[in-house]
Amino acid sequence: MSEIIDVSRIFGEDVFNESTMRKRLPKDVFKKLKETMNTGRELDSTIAESVATAMKDWAIEKGATHYTHWFQPMTGITAEKHDSFIAPTGDGTVIMEFSGKELIKGETDASSFPSGGIRATFEARGYTAWDPTSFAFVKDNTLYIPTAFCSYTGEALDKKTPLLRSMDALSVQALRVLRLFGNTTSKRVIPTVGAEQEYFLIDKSVYEKRKDLLFTGRTLFGAPAPKGQEMEDHYFGVIKQRVSDYMKDLDFALWKLGVPSTTKHNEAAPAQHEMAPIFASANLAADQNQLAMEMMQKIAKKHDMVCLLHEKPFKGVNGSGKHDNWALSTDDGQNLLNPGKLPGENAQFLTFLAAVIKAVDDYAELLRLSVATAGNDHRLGAHEAPPAIISIFLGDELDEVVKAIIEGRIVVKKSAYFDLGIMTLPKFKKDNTDRNRTSPFAFTGNKFEFRSVGSTHNVATPNIILNTIVAESLRLFADELEKATPENFDEILHALLVKTFKNHSRVIFNGNGYGDEWVKEAEKRGLPNLVSAVDALPHFEDKKSIDVFTQHKVFTEREIHARTEILLENYYKTINIEAHTVVEMVKRDYTPAVMSYQKNLCDIIASKKNVGIDVTVEMNTVQKISSLTSSMVAKNETLEKLLDEAKKLTADKESAGVEKIARFYHDEIFAKMNEIRADVDELETMVASSYWPVPAYGEILFSVK
Ligand code: ADP
Ligand code: MG
Repeated sequence: MSEIIDVSRIFGEDVFNESTMRKRLPKDVFKKLKETMNTGRELDSTIAESVATAMKDWAIEKGATHYTHWFQPMTGITAEKHDSFIAPTGDGTVIMEFSGKELIKGETDASSFPSGGIRATFEARGYTAWDPTSFAFVKDNTLYIPTAFCSYTGEALDKKTPLLRSMDALSVQALRVLRLFGNTTSKRVIPTVGAEQEYFLIDKSVYEKRKDLLFTGRTLFGAPAPKGQEMEDHYFGVIKQRVSDYMKDLDFALWKLGVPSTTKHNEAAPAQHEMAPIFASANLAADQNQLAMEMMQKIAKKHDMVCLLHEKPFKGVNGSGKHDNWALSTDDGQNLLNPGKLPGENAQFLTFLAAVIKAVDDYAELLRLSVATAGNDHRLGAHEAPPAIISIFLGDELDEVVKAIIEGRIVVKKSAYFDLGIMTLPKFKKDNTDRNRTSPFAFTGNKFEFRSVGSTHNVATPNIILNTIVAESLRLFADELEKATPENFDEILHALLVKTFKNHSRVIFNGNGYGDEWVKEAEKRGLPNLVSAVDALPHFEDKKSIDVFTQHKVFTEREIHARTEILLENYYKTINIEAHTVVEMVKRDYTPAVMSYQKNLCDIIASKKNVGIDVTVEMNTVQKISSLTSSMVAKNETLEKLLDEAKKLTADKESAGVEKIARFYHDEIFAKMNEIRADVDELETMVASSYWPVPAYGEILFSVK
């Protein structure tokens, strides 16, 4: 019989959450802290001491000996530096100490984290500041304190700081609009996020034999396996025992850390799975997703497996994404993207819907670049994931409503009680069953699902952008609507919605996003199609982008510049590692293997010839292999030369400019890598498997039995 797990007891067991705070903190301290958490306002420093002591005592009971300020630098992963609680007393013994100051602020050397030039002109020191809106937790005998990471001069060096800023901006503008609809009670509007995480699980033994997986997280070579995902037998299929055991362990670990993991299933590709948590505020969801990714990898190791989070570990089978489900909720629990029952509520819903549609159309480049990385380039537009063209799927019903408003068939009014003659909007189905899986940005009943996010991404980035651009639409709406009087409000609102839907209907697309027709159609509509990360990332510095970020105080111009540099640098550094891995594998693994096989064939040919047996088959085979080998080796030599050139370019980064370097990596190096791969993959189909130096796709994809 399997062990019974008392989930309600273990959930959040290792988290200093609200319920623990209420139990452990003096009443007035708890009240003040709660206020900070709810309003996102600055922490009252007089309570820090009391919170620190309570937190430390609780953590020590949970086995903690150290604490760490946990932050999310622009590397995309989390960072932590551990300090112990011990303080010598002078008589050779120690006591466990943790001060309010240590809780609130930590100093750290920022010089080893990417800063995009910010640290070059300023001090190397950076500091981390506690984010009381996300809970502290204990893991591996350490108290983890979620923090924001800034340069000494206050510039954001992480992903949390701008996320919090964008949440503030969105709240301010959304409240302005809500007030116009008569809402006087909500104090804050919070973007809610549910990040569905896709991943692959493979056996450790095959992983260790693949340098490409080890160094780059994806296979740089590999001929298709005889069986892939064509039978569609994996999606939602029965979960193998070994995977099920892993998922159980993962749930257990996540629940203890307060991550509400709730859905698990097999995904489309062999060895691919998904975990989805219950949504939370964008900030908490981003922290929890980082924790989830970490635990996924850690727990896989315990099961002698490796969890691959890369967007495209295998060519020819589906890659992994991270669907970013996004909605807006008031602090008193109203989902603003939930169509209401009354037409009045629907007018409010339609206003927020219009704001999102306008934002996505106005800032499609920003949304595209929010998910632009070397890894995700393999997904977007690769006929499996959403295309690189940003469009919105509304579903038939809502699409019809929008059309009816544009054509004047529905007149939108603020209140149901105003005029009995108004048309009631049809009720929308909560769950759109015929959901369009090809759309990058789909309305799914009461939230939007941004499907272009890559599986390794920190969801902070797309949400920073989403929050900011929607804040901008709402700001413009509020500016216009605030001018109205009670008498003409309905008229002005109606005109605003008609105008918005009309101007932005080009971004609405309910058809098949994978087809070539859509590419042509999108071009006609004037929608940007930024195919690669290198095409997308420079748009971060467009005037339009700078304006919107500075308007809402999410990024300063300097921060935008720094981030663009880092993103482009990350792009070419990734390709650089991949290219070096290609060179090494071709030289040291594939070439020798192919040579031995050729020798073996030549030996056979020689001995067969000796006794007068026909050697046509062997000759043909060896000739084909030999010419493919020459081609592979020649291309690999070219790749090495290109890497030398790239090295020179990067050595003089200032004068070359990161965009040019990234472009070189994309156009020359990445292109050459793909040419080499074609030769290697063809060789793989001709060389005896006993000679092949690495496990084949079939062995990897079906390694977990
Ligand atoms: P799908 O059918 O898209 O795979 P899942 O059930 O796997 O759906 O995931 C849906 C995700 O959306 C979950 O993480 C869920 O918590 C999240 N979600 C639901 N409602 C909201 C909301 N209002 N805001 C943000 N996320 C939400
Ligand atoms: Mg799902």
